[in-house]
Amino acid sequence: MPQFAAVTVDSVEMDGDGVRFRIRARAADAACSGCGRLSSRVHARYQRELSDLPVSGLRARVIAAIRRFKCLNPQCAQSTFSEQIPGLTTPFARRTPPLTGALVKVALSVAGRAGARLAAGLAMP
Ligand SMILES: [Zn+2]
Repeated sequence: MPQFAAVTVDSVEMDGDGVRFRIRARAADAACSGCGRLSSRVHARYQRELSDLPVSGLRARVIAAIRRFKCLNPQCAQSTFSEQIPGLTTPFARRTPPLTGALVKVALSVAGRAGARLAAGLAMP
């Protein structure tokens, strides 16, 4: 699972709806999305849920413990920013980049309702 290269997997849980991975980033700091300066001063934490590629035919979800950092650059207009985990999160996305890539391939091959049925059948609703 290359999308988990930069994270620690805290737990893997299975239920009737699929499998859930609880993860957190290993990096001690993150780059500000406004100015690019690194910060290690954590301002807050929250959970973010992302859909991921299926695992053995089961729907997969990633529950990420995301840190919100304070930007230490006084010239920066952005006072806080959320960390992004490479290969796993992008701003405001509810899917991982690998799942988005797979769904784009399905959409380009069989668009519309047929594509939606195929994606649902592949555990990628
Ligand atoms: Zn900044």
